[in-house]
Amino acid sequence: MRASLDRLIYHDRHGVSRALIEAGGLQMTDQDLPTTSLLWLGYCSPQPTSKTPGFIPFEKILWSEDAGDGIISVAYVEDHAVVMKKVAIEGTDAAEVLSHAYGNIPREQRVLVVVNPHGGQGNAVDIYRSKVLPVLRAAHAQVTYMETLRAEHAIEIAQQLDIDLYDIVACCSGDGIPHEIINGLYQRPDRAKAFAQLAITQLPCGSGNAMTLLTHATTNAVDATLSMLKLSRISADAMAVTQLDLSGREVTKLSFLSQTYGVIADADIGTEHLRWMGAARFDLGVAKGILCRTSYPCEFAVEYAESSKKGILTQFAAAKGEQPQWLAPEESQFNRDGPALSAPIPTLWKHIENSDKLNVMYTGKFPYVSKDVMIFPTAHPADGAMDLFVTDTTMSIWEMNKMFGLVETGGQFFHDRVHYLKISKYRLTPQVKGKHYFSVDGESFPLEPVQVEVLPRVLTLLVPQLGFNNKKFSH
Ligand code: ADP
Ligand code: MG
Repeated sequence: MRASLDRLIYHDRHGVSRALIEAGGLQMTDQDLPTTSLLWLGYCSPQPTSKTPGFIPFEKILWSEDAGDGIISVAYVEDHAVVMKKVAIEGTDAAEVLSHAYGNIPREQRVLVVVNPHGGQGNAVDIYRSKVLPVLRAAHAQVTYMETLRAEHAIEIAQQLDIDLYDIVACCSGDGIPHEIINGLYQRPDRAKAFAQLAITQLPCGSGNAMTLLTHATTNAVDATLSMLKLSRISADAMAVTQLDLSGREVTKLSFLSQTYGVIADADIGTEHLRWMGAARFDLGVAKGILCRTSYPCEFAVEYAESSKKGILTQFAAAKGEQPQWLAPEESQFNRDGPALSAPIPTLWKHIENSDKLNVMYTGKFPYVSKDVMIFPTAHPADGAMDLFVTDTTMSIWEMNKMFGLVETGGQFFHDRVHYLKISKYRLTPQVKGKHYFSVDGESFPLEPVQVEVLPRVLTLLVPQLGFNNKKFSH
């Protein structure tokens, strides 16, 4: 395994480079040196003038170790590949380079990799072998590999897991496997401990990779794996999704990302037969939904967290650059405090207008729902609320098309025909006929009455210290 893996890592075979340690990384200062003539290094190191192409930022460094004779072997990521290079650095050693590379982020983390071979266009195993594993190996991560054998297998994996053996669960999949892992952990008697112990993250191997876009801001699996190893833990909200089972009992599952009803749900779940198209199947589904002007009547009532766009923008500005904290969740945080699904809708909740003509109901916790589609620009993983986006068929096709043209930068937020709210709870009773869907984190749920409420800060996710990915939103 090691020999075949080494072929995936690019070894810089140009001998040893001299380098200087700078504030943000290692600056190569020379052409290559013969390995045998290192003695004079200490006497004639020229100062680097700028961050030339020979600069290796610390955040790209996966590992460094002494290779003897004052030479340090450095593994890092460059141009979406792992590179091994030998350097001689005056006045420092491999341990110092490593401590700059990781700061206070733990090294050699214990990573459980869960690969969905069915995810995306069916190439998750290849992506794992050629892109994820070389990075993990180079970073000396302790890797345990599992493959899902069937739908919902990841739920069982999480239910039966020895949680003390891992720090991170890395889902090489779309959003479906993090959804299943989270639900498997949720069903455990020690769920608070499990969610505290395990940071759940995703490496992009599916058609919907929203968690990767929030946390790693890339859809390249090499870069996402590097990012995963350098991120801090935060406590993030989950959404408790309650429906009745066949015997009329309430069943609650967790959602970490989104729920949707209407055009987007049909585009997501209803295009499963077009999986070979990759992410383009969503665009096709949405275009069809808009052109057909189908409406999806429902009864839809919400508990506001913030009802004005101005108020939402004020909160958004206040949260900018602020790193959400991590705190171990307690069991009591999993309690729902909304009414029973059979009870009447509380009088303080608001009914969404035109819900008989609704065509998109979409709630989310993360800004991006897919690459270049920022439906929820003001979403925050830990603000105790869901962002809600609603449109109805009183909008013309032309207006709708124009509005969806703004999603790359989140500009649809400002469209005056878009309802955009922050809510803490909702109840939706679908009244649509025919074959339609309710999608939770991209998974198909029964199209039945549903109540959803936020469970603040019960999950552990990984996000960059400099904030998560929503920079394109101009407001
Ligand atoms: P995508 O983003 O492409 O939809 P996901 O990772 O979200 O990929 O997974 C899609 C579905 O694949 C999930 O419903 C999951 O339960 C299912 N699944 C997982 N493993 C398998 C498997 N071995 N065979 C078939 N389906 C699977
Ligand atoms: Mg999916």
